[in-house]
Amino acid sequence: MTTLSLYAPGTRVYLPSDDSDGCWITAEVLSCTKSADTLTLALRDENGKESTLTGSGASLPPLRNPPLLESADDLATLSHLNEPSVLYAVRTRYAQRKIYTYSGIVLLAVNPFEPVAMYTPEIVKSYIGRNKGELEPHLFAIAEDARAAMLLDGTGQTIIVSGESGAGKTESAKLVMRFIAAPKAPGLNSDKNSFVDGASQVEQQIQATNPILEAFGNAKTTRNDNSSRFGKFIQLLFDTNQQIVGARLRHYLLERSRISYQTRTERNYHIFYQLCAGLPSEDLQRLGLDADYSTFHYLNQGGPSTNELNDRDKFHATQDALGVIGIDPERQTSIFQILAALLHLGNISVTQTRTDAIIDDEDPSMGHAMEFLGVNPADFKKWTIKKQITTRSEKIVTTLTAPQAVQVRDSISRFVYACLFEWLVTAINESLMGKYGDAAARAETCIGVLDIYGFEHFDKNSFEQFCINYANERLQHEFNTYVFKLAQDDYVKEKINWTFIDFDDNQPAIDLMEGKLGILAILDEESRLPLGSDASFLQKLNAQLDKPANKAVYKMPKFANAAFTIAHYALDVTYQVEGFLEKNRDTVPEEHLTLLTSSSNPFLREVLDTALHRAEPADPPSPNGAVSKVPDPGRTSLAGTTGRGTSVKKPTLGSIFKGSLGTLMDMLRMTNVHYIRCLKPNQHKKAWEFDPPQVLAQLRASGVLETIRISTAGYPSRWKFEDFARRYYTLIHWREGPTLMKREQWKRICALVLQKAGVDRSKHQFGETKIFLRTGVLATLEGLRSTKL
Ligand code: ADP
Ligand code: MG
Repeated sequence: MTTLSLYAPGTRVYLPSDDSDGCWITAEVLSCTKSADTLTLALRDENGKESTLTGSGASLPPLRNPPLLESADDLATLSHLNEPSVLYAVRTRYAQRKIYTYSGIVLLAVNPFEPVAMYTPEIVKSYIGRNKGELEPHLFAIAEDARAAMLLDGTGQTIIVSGESGAGKTESAKLVMRFIAAPKAPGLNSDKNSFVDGASQVEQQIQATNPILEAFGNAKTTRNDNSSRFGKFIQLLFDTNQQIVGARLRHYLLERSRISYQTRTERNYHIFYQLCAGLPSEDLQRLGLDADYSTFHYLNQGGPSTNELNDRDKFHATQDALGVIGIDPERQTSIFQILAALLHLGNISVTQTRTDAIIDDEDPSMGHAMEFLGVNPADFKKWTIKKQITTRSEKIVTTLTAPQAVQVRDSISRFVYACLFEWLVTAINESLMGKYGDAAARAETCIGVLDIYGFEHFDKNSFEQFCINYANERLQHEFNTYVFKLAQDDYVKEKINWTFIDFDDNQPAIDLMEGKLGILAILDEESRLPLGSDASFLQKLNAQLDKPANKAVYKMPKFANAAFTIAHYALDVTYQVEGFLEKNRDTVPEEHLTLLTSSSNPFLREVLDTALHRAEPADPPSPNGAVSKVPDPGRTSLAGTTGRGTSVKKPTLGSIFKGSLGTLMDMLRMTNVHYIRCLKPNQHKKAWEFDPPQVLAQLRASGVLETIRISTAGYPSRWKFEDFARRYYTLIHWREGPTLMKREQWKRICALVLQKAGVDRSKHQFGETKIFLRTGVLATLEGLRSTKL
């Protein structure tokens, strides 16, 4: 097959479109002439406009697939694998209300943005015990695939759900968990958060984690009214009888800045509004709260809540869920008291004389906050408006300005909240695994679900985006390695001739970020210097990294000041260095830490103790000393600062994150991995609206197109001899075809079909059980087949 025949008259191709809606339009080849290496095409596009185009190789327009393949269940079966074809397939399916599409081992899920009847008990049942290709693509098919693989030989499984904010990760992850946790039950309850009647205690506890984590870890953002502000990994643990014996929860990088600051259209964590809307009035009064929370600085920066009734209902759901995991009403009251303390803390008024910050001794907010935190107001005040620096010879106390004092005040709120979250996760784990980690010891195998923020790229990108994109870069690396290895394994198994090719690896970008002399290392070094600054951090970055060896991945932006650019696998992102150091250090003044850890509130002491003291990894030894067989992704912990004065080197947020990613990757490598990529079809959360450029950007960022590139380097189409023969035997002689079919001479039929269609020897290979085809071959065969019919 020459390029000439690929572009024979009548062939449909894609041309770039100026139309903002489209990305591409279709055109038909009217004629095609060849001179030397270039082709000249005469084209007519779908609007009737004619044009000519001259080019060769990659500069020729991408080919459109024959109609039969166009909206295939699995993009891997597309004969022409190119960006427009992939986009077209996903778009067409979505228009037909088919939100799921396979792309090889990946399931693409496009958010419907309205309830769909795809998760009923009948549908659940229909996917149990079925192979992945048998039914329409679905989350449940992936979940069942994982379950089946685990049952087969006990291998641990991980399902990675990724996508940008609002794409549907958390909803998908919950559905997958429900499917896996209760596959043998009579059916799933239609109520989202409750379970089938008769669900076991473990199953109820697993389910209860959702309302709790969402109350404390989710918030309304511009992208998603219920946006998770942390990464989550839940691992279901199974015993030898494939019964669930427990579960393990890990979390990554809770967003802290939200506690003290929200933009006008966003909110703080749901729990604060739930509390104000849901607590009985006498409790509100006792905590100095009001159902109208607009007096609280931490809550009134965002827009007004539109949804108080919902907040109240949700509050009761949160209380119930806390009860299910064993946090009794008394402890719940202690939690609420801490939350109230944080709201009051945010209202402490800091003013300023000409030079120094001042806080009124009688400030009522300080009174409330300190009462609930169990800290002496005078001590608190002192260390909020003053700072102590320890030099080699002496201790010097200096005064702070009002903005600096507000910084200190807010850093304490953020710190206490992060510790409370950490404590909750520990409490959840104790409930899911038994206090002594019993479940981990009894577990033989596992299925984990990772719900993690996808690649982020905003107008302004900071430390948070850096961490998120670093995580995605590493996940992408695992993904590439895995997909590529799968493809190559198949070639080896089928014994076809195959030179192992090296695909374009993203390791250089990873090294740039986490290597010995990479960005994180330089950031940590700078963070430890008392006089370190964002500016000197950037200077060191440029001195160290702006070298020819890094040319492909590290760039100094031409126009942006105080910024650096990383070429990620998805695209280039420019990071503003402002705030990197502070966020990485994540400091609470030492004096405040001492005040908090010696608080007269025993619950607060326990919370801090839990968050700060647990070593990693955290599964406590079981009473009989057995060691878990199930790989543990490792506990993230705020550890490092010891609570009681003697302070060890406090790890930075960057290094904590790097460590927990490392253990997560180790765990992924020990398990079978399945991928769900969630796509957000439009920015306005509108049901069934599909914005092609936006989806295209996500397909690129999710690595789906990259995977396709990897697979087109080899033989993207692979068919079992029989399947291929059954589809195309009509292409060979009208008598010979059926005869050979009757004799089941599948391989012979395959050979004759290819011969008849004039497929070049370089375009196909016969394996042991399958035929392997280069890109484009299938389209030719489909063309011939349709003229025969
Ligand atoms: P993410 O976790 O990716 O930020 P979510 O899972 O919170 O996104 O989904 C955002 C919103 O999209 C949900 O609140 C819900 O309204 C809608 N949504 C997501 N998945 C589905 C689904 N499968 N069916 C119906 N609506 C969905
Ligand atoms: Mg989410």
